[in-house]
Amino acid sequence: MIPISLADGFFIYLILGIGMVFGLWAYYDFRDKNLYQAERSKTVYHCVKCGKIYADKMGVKQSNCPRCKFKNTHLQF
Ligand SMILES: [Zn+2]
Repeated sequence: MIPISLADGFFIYLILGIGMVFGLWAYYDFRDKNLYQAERSKTVYHCVKCGKIYADKMGVKQSNCPRCKFKNTHLQF
């Protein structure tokens, strides 16, 4: 058994706690990035022909309505 002082033990305990917090932070950040990135990178479109509101990939100027196939531009607020 390795003898350690109370201060060293407290320091090791503190480092393990901080490491655990950073580990959980990195884990949940990585998981959420993979889960929600597809949803975050969508834009809302409103079909002027049939009135349907739908979401499609961000970055495209026009999107085809899934109901009537009319080309719509994205909503601007
Ligand atoms: Zn439509």
